[in-house]
Amino acid sequence: MIPVIALVGRPNVGKSTLFNRLTNTRDAIVADYAGLTRDRKYGEANYLDHKFILIDTGGISGDEDGIDEVMAEQSLQAIAEADAVLFLVDCRDGLSPADQMIAKHLRINNKKTYVVANKVDGLSFDVAVAPFYELGMGEIYPTTASHGRGVKSLMTEVLAEF
Ligand code: GDP
Ligand code: MG
Repeated sequence: MIPVIALVGRPNVGKSTLFNRLTNTRDAIVADYAGLTRDRKYGEANYLDHKFILIDTGGISGDEDGIDEVMAEQSLQAIAEADAVLFLVDCRDGLSPADQMIAKHLRINNKKTYVVANKVDGLSFDVAVAPFYELGMGEIYPTTASHGRGVKSLMTEVLAEF
């Protein structure tokens, strides 16, 4: 089975930028892959000699009214469909309550998750990633999605699972 990897996180963290970088912009022929629905953006990626399906989502904006309010339905579905999740956070904003809510949901779903600290450009790696260890979700992968920095290291780890 071809692995399915979902991009989740608050709006504006860089999910679509990473999606476009990893896919060749050609949308996957979803009908070829059982179990996937059509209302999210799927891309077929061929990266580091691995073929996989990437799901882009509109983002989870977050308020304090509870997880059902916070999680956009399509993001929930994307998480459910995925074999692994790339959880994007923004180094410039630091850890936000919405990030915490998303993390909680991912933990409840027991989904293999990689925390991607995007927009590290212009910041010190160590300082930029430090706040996100509080999520308790393991290694933090710093990236600059817009220029591709850190993406290869991240995907080497992710794809080693498949
Ligand atoms: P999404 O809402 O999570 O899909 O975020 P987008 O991919 O649309 O990106 C939101 C904005 O952040 C855009 O203006 C991107 O060009 C910018 N962006 C994405 N990645 C980076 C990055 O690594 N560094 C910087 N400085 N900007 C980025
Ligand atoms: Mg987007």
